[in-house]
Amino acid sequence: MLRLTFADYESLRAHGEETYPHECCGILLGNNDSAGNSVKQVIRAGNTRSDSAHNRYHIAPEELIRAQREGRKAGLDIIGFYHSHPDHPARWSQTDFEEAHWFGCSYVITAIEQGQARITNSFLLKGTSEDEKAFEDEALEIDVTGVEENVASHAAKMSVDVREGDKT
Ligand SMILES: [Zn+2]
Repeated sequence: MLRLTFADYESLRAHGEETYPHECCGILLGNNDSAGNSVKQVIRAGNTRSDSAHNRYHIAPEELIRAQREGRKAGLDIIGFYHSHPDHPARWSQTDFEEAHWFGCSYVITAIEQGQARITNSFLLKGTSEDEKAFEDEALEIDVTGVEENVASHAAKMSVDVREGDKT
């Protein structure tokens, strides 16, 4: 289970719309407990991959270190990463899997179709070594507390879209 506020959810989806037709990427700071990962802060990262930014993403080591340092001050850890798939489904690719090395972290992918954020899915990287790692589908729980009623019903509708998207 990955928990995040509606504002953070919107923020990472909007990032993908802004960088379209290129991929966006970023870091999720938060806490991990028995219920899963909880996002407390979304950090946008520059996509340092210039060779093929439409289907590859990469977060610079310096950005990771800075995020980790910033997080520690606030008692937060890196609990996940997000990126977008311009005109591609919100499923992990072989490259995404090969480049995922943070066990226990949530990897969030948003499909951007024609510049519009569509389905957002999360995948938990299970395992303790490269040999036995695996991505597992992870449910998203979007906290709409404090969000105006009309926006909240919009969010509820979107989470239905997420589940429907999983089936196709
Ligand atoms: Zn990807």
